[in-house]
Amino acid sequence: MRVAVISDIHANLHALEAVHEAIDQEAPDEIWCLGDLVGYGPQPNACCEWTAKHAAVGLAGNHDLGVLGTIDISDFTDDAAAAAIWTRGVLGPPARDYLGVLPTSGRREEIGLFHASPRDPVWEYVLTWEAAEAAIHYSGFAITLVGHSHVPLAISDDPGLPGGHAPGGKEIEFDGAQWLLNPGSVGQPRDGDPAAAWLLLDLDERRASFRRVAYDVERTQTEIRDQGLPDALAERLAHGV
Ligand code: ZN
Repeated sequence: MRVAVISDIHANLHALEAVHEAIDQEAPDEIWCLGDLVGYGPQPNACCEWTAKHAAVGLAGNHDLGVLGTIDISDFTDDAAAAAIWTRGVLGPPARDYLGVLPTSGRREEIGLFHASPRDPVWEYVLTWEAAEAAIHYSGFAITLVGHSHVPLAISDDPGLPGGHAPGGKEIEFDGAQWLLNPGSVGQPRDGDPAAAWLLLDLDERRASFRRVAYDVERTQTEIRDQGLPDALAERLAHGV
């Protein structure tokens, strides 16, 4: 089975459409989404509709839950909270109903899926070796998939294997070790590369391939500004931060 893994779309429809085109060229068997469909960006309804239609597995992230009111947004940054409040005002019933039934973790084949981390699927950022190692051991799965940090990562429990940030073009073989993989973010990358990120997993060949695809950043920036969302949310997309 071949799977396209996406995460942290953040209501950026033009990034999502570019990723969709790239995924279509690979024709995977399934698409899995690790959460944060909404928040920050200007097109929450269209991104929920796309994910409901195309993703075989969907998770909810902290931004989805903040918009729904399931978690308190007082812990959000000012810009994130402003975007969550704006999203509440525009989110239609189909998107609300879809997000409302998504779990924050899941399992498929021998793979554990979590929005943030196995021990805290909503909030914990896995950005250090220590956190990655703890996540791998806590989950116990051969492959642990997380999103949330918006930084693509490939880290194994084998100290002899190089791991860490996984830029576009990075390929790994995942036999013989447990791996933590983060596909990076579709709609708001934070590793210095503004291109939308996704991950192709080949469970038969035991390979993972980290992909990036350029999209029309200015179009999303214009929509963010037109909706009166914080300008910093538009600005950061140009720099991938
Ligand atoms: Zn996110």
